Amino acid sequence: MSDHYVKVKVQLEQMKSSGEGVEKEEADIIEDEVLVASPPASVSPIPASGAPAAQRETPKTSVTCRNQSKSRSKLGKDEKNTCTKQDSVPALQGTIVASNANSGKPVNRKDNEQQMLQIKGTGKMLQGKTETNGNTVPIHAPEDIKVGPHNKEDANKVAKRRKPVTVDTFKAKTSLEALKLSIRQLKWKEFPVGRRSACDIYWHGVSFHDNDNIISGQVNKFPGMIEMLRKINLTRAVRTMQELFPEEYNFYPRSWILPEEYQLFSTQINLAKDIDLSQKPTFIIKPDGGSQGDGIYLIRDPGDLRVIAGSHTKQSVVQEYIHKPLLIDKLKFDIRLYVLVKSLEPLEIYIAKEGLSRFCTEPYQEPSQKNLSHVFMHLTNYSLNVQSGNFVHSDSLSSGSKRTFSSVLYRLASKGVDIKKVWSDIISLVIKTVIALVPELKVYYQADIPPGKPGPTCFQILGFDILLMKNLKPVLLEVNANPSMRIEHEQEVSPGVFEYVPSPVDEEVKVGVIRDTLRLMDPAQRKSLTSYPEHQQEEMLGSPVRGTGEEGRVLPSMCLKQVFPKYTKQFSYLRTVERITALFLRFLGVKGNMRLGPTGFRTFIRNCKLSNSHFSMATVDILYIDITRRWASMLPDSREAGMGLQAFVEAFFYLAQRRFKSLPLREQVVSLLEVCEAQLENQGRGDPVGALPEDSTSSTRRSVSCGRTQPGRTQHPHHMSTSTPGQALSAPQLCSPATPRRASSQDYRLHQRLRPTHKGNVEN
Ligand code: ADP
Repeated sequence: MSDHYVKVKVQLEQMKSSGEGVEKEEADIIEDEVLVASPPASVSPIPASGAPAAQRETPKTSVTCRNQSKSRSKLGKDEKNTCTKQDSVPALQGTIVASNANSGKPVNRKDNEQQMLQIKGTGKMLQGKTETNGNTVPIHAPEDIKVGPHNKEDANKVAKRRKPVTVDTFKAKTSLEALKLSIRQLKWKEFPVGRRSACDIYWHGVSFHDNDNIISGQVNKFPGMIEMLRKINLTRAVRTMQELFPEEYNFYPRSWILPEEYQLFSTQINLAKDIDLSQKPTFIIKPDGGSQGDGIYLIRDPGDLRVIAGSHTKQSVVQEYIHKPLLIDKLKFDIRLYVLVKSLEPLEIYIAKEGLSRFCTEPYQEPSQKNLSHVFMHLTNYSLNVQSGNFVHSDSLSSGSKRTFSSVLYRLASKGVDIKKVWSDIISLVIKTVIALVPELKVYYQADIPPGKPGPTCFQILGFDILLMKNLKPVLLEVNANPSMRIEHEQEVSPGVFEYVPSPVDEEVKVGVIRDTLRLMDPAQRKSLTSYPEHQQEEMLGSPVRGTGEEGRVLPSMCLKQVFPKYTKQFSYLRTVERITALFLRFLGVKGNMRLGPTGFRTFIRNCKLSNSHFSMATVDILYIDITRRWASMLPDSREAGMGLQAFVEAFFYLAQRRFKSLPLREQVVSLLEVCEAQLENQGRGDPVGALPEDSTSSTRRSVSCGRTQPGRTQHPHHMSTSTPGQALSAPQLCSPATPRRASSQDYRLHQRLRPTHKGNVEN
């Protein structure tokens, strides 16, 4: 038995004995996710996608000739594949594991069954195959098929009686192939060119608005998701949370928004350099709305920012570059995880237990002036690296330049890494990020689908891009509203002739994600499932009740794992901005509007009893004008006038700071929320009309919706009663109210940045 095998065994034994079924804390949130198991007694040879990619009859579409270029070329928005020659791939060198002899070879699934790591629920087995060189290569065994709690015959009868679920795939675009496979496995009915009558599910390739005529059913996109996930908006949303919860949100690198914060960025960096001359930080510039690495570059000095049109930088985010990433085989890699937001109200989040790891194609070196432009070393984007001669297309799931995340975890486990902790941190990052996005998404949602009006419900699969630092801390790079769901890639079959060929890694991961998303959105299941506990829901979805899969076989158990509301207890206190959003929506008034007018803002102040002789309504108007103007200048393309949610949140923070001077910001904000909520509740009880905005025609339904959106109100662990309801703001004068809040927030951020512990958390 090699030393290596002994180590793996020890790790696996440790994991086995670490206990299950305890109420989980954040630190070991996924105690029940990854566990060691013997081979299951009954396994069925259906992989996640129903049939092995290689055996599946995949249409090979010839595509036109084109020059293969190894330089960076401008690519489209969707993940694009460019053919590369497999025989030109040099062997990857081992950093974590000494060598990788398996590159490019298909893996024999029946091989060696010595060590197994089961990802519970996916039915997925990672088998450690000890190679002759002593390395452990994870391979995927057949799916562990679970039969649900129902009698199979009865279940099949029920399934026969029901009409199949209908899916409109007309707008599915690049997800089409994976979607078709999923629908076939579920025995549902596809409408490839749409349908005159309504479908149960509409699958859009890009946005909620791909088809604006939907008034019922479910659509796989939320209104506003694309906008919210643009780099600047994501940064703003996370930064708001960082102001309230700096420790909880330190998984997002320090970022500045350009051009508006160029001066701030420049001053802060130069100041930090002056204080510590040894500091040579690197920054990554990402254009707002960019994808696939387009327009991204690295700098080491604020003066190196590229300017356009003489003096202005493009709208972009400049971010601290994580210079010590975890390496495997000396290569930087990132993780693409698929996350389903099943509903906003109530918030329901699922994470796919399997993801992708995308590798760079040039060995990593810490950034230096010389290597800043080496994209194959610093950027993990598939669309870039596929153009490198070093890119390895592999049929194996555990080697090559794109692998399953579980195969990476397996390798890490074999090196003694606590992979449960890694998973737990990732889940926590995902939940916190979604919590940061929800407030603004609710505003978009109500604007597009006002309560009481006919409209579809929404769900969406997001693509989280996560980097593991050398110390294994996950860092959020970005979230994609439209992650590529392609399961094939282009290959040059003869000089200049390209074909689409199946990509087993993509198929393994993506078909499961789409199929299980559909299963969760099944209208019949949705209704009946909610009355069961979560573990039973998973079993039922794996049961033959609804769609027994191709050839009558039972579907694999779910690859999507519910994490919210499952972990509500640990995270609900973070939903403070959602409570502010509930107030915003209540006073928003006019249908379809996303901005609060001056009258709505005044009504908010008056109904919450926030004004008095020291804080007059005239001062309120100045506050409104000041903040709204500044936000309008920061969002130059905004067409609607008025106060948006972000500006309202800023105003709210300002009001909270004025009123509860000595407390930390988050406590100030919670205290003011309590004041406002108590006032509105009183009015709601005694005088419903008093709670309504003056300029609102649809306020009644909005206040109903507001009543639902007060998450975490009773669960906040830092609950305080420092406020006296009705106590007015004590602001003797107000010159430029927004500026102090903003300045204090900037000072605060600078303070945070200069604190070594905070920085250490992010940058290792
Ligand atoms: P895009 O949407 O264009 O892909 P990303 O934000 O995902 O933009 O960045 C592209 C790549 O750059 C990432 O996949 C990652 O490899 C690298 N990257 C991005 N941000 C950072 C960072 N802060 N530190 C280190 N590498 C980063």
